[in-house]
Amino acid sequence: MSALILDGKALAAQSEQQLGERVEKLKTLSGGKIPILATILVGDDPASATYVKMKGNACRRVGMESLAVEMPSSTTTEQLLARINELNANPDVHGILLQHPVPEQIDERACFDAISLAKDVDGVTCLGYGRMAMGEKAYGCATPKGIMRLLEHYNIELEGKHAVVVGRSAILGKPMAAMLLEANATVTTCHSRTRQLEQHIKQADIVVGAVGRPEFIKGDWIKDGAVVVDAGYHPGGVGDIELSAITERVSAYTPVPGGVGPMTINTLIMQTVESGEHAIAGPN
Ligand code: NAP
Repeated sequence: MSALILDGKALAAQSEQQLGERVEKLKTLSGGKIPILATILVGDDPASATYVKMKGNACRRVGMESLAVEMPSSTTTEQLLARINELNANPDVHGILLQHPVPEQIDERACFDAISLAKDVDGVTCLGYGRMAMGEKAYGCATPKGIMRLLEHYNIELEGKHAVVVGRSAILGKPMAAMLLEANATVTTCHSRTRQLEQHIKQADIVVGAVGRPEFIKGDWIKDGAVVVDAGYHPGGVGDIELSAITERVSAYTPVPGGVGPMTINTLIMQTVESGEHAIAGPN
């Protein structure tokens, strides 16, 4: 059996073209206004700096602007909260991205939750998460929402399927499980205290790897015909799942790289365009 490749890179490129058209239309209708994403980078972690740069570049590819806010590693919670509040109050800013992780002296949860719901285009607030989990309107957390868009694009059936999510972080595992539940999958969430992890994964129709350890989920834990989503990306171009062992016998999988990663950035940009459209042109 040859598996379907869930090509996030191609879908993100296709989506960028449509987003570029939406930005252009908004600009024309509003006499030159475009959506703006504020990106906040605290400290000097090189990986975080790269992610923020990639997000800024994606903004420009669709004709949007990004407002890059950089703060030193000595920043306090109060200073970051003050900056977020300024951006909340700035009518020219339509989305706010606070790059995770922030330096350890900062209360990251308090800072995420300070982002106003209307500008929470990365889907990181408790309020947005709660609304999403209750089936109410909110911007989805970018990585799991990107995964849902990818599954939807390839018509992967979720209803009634058993999805096993490995990982329960606030930005990935937990919202992923809630989104799959909203899509009527039967969901098991596993984590570091889960017993007999392998047995849970062996029952999965859909496996989502969000562990943060290279090839931690072994190929022989995954049943034939499963749909495999790998959110990890590690040096050497491997993810959290031993993909090389299963590409011939699963029904679909996300490649690493080129699967989940491009969809995360694209979802952030898409939600910023949506927020910009609401703020500039009004809800329709
Ligand atoms: P994280 O915050 O470190 O969370 C890792 C999760 O894995 C935790 O819930 C942890 O359980 C669980 N875990 C750790 N060891 C385990 C074990 N032995 N058995 C079962 N579960 C275990 O990581 P994250 O931010 O969610 O990221 C997860 C992965 O996704 C990483 O590879 C990251 O690079 C990737 N990621 C990719 C994107 C993208 O855009 N492509 C975005 C975000 C993250 P506990 O809760 O019990 O500690």
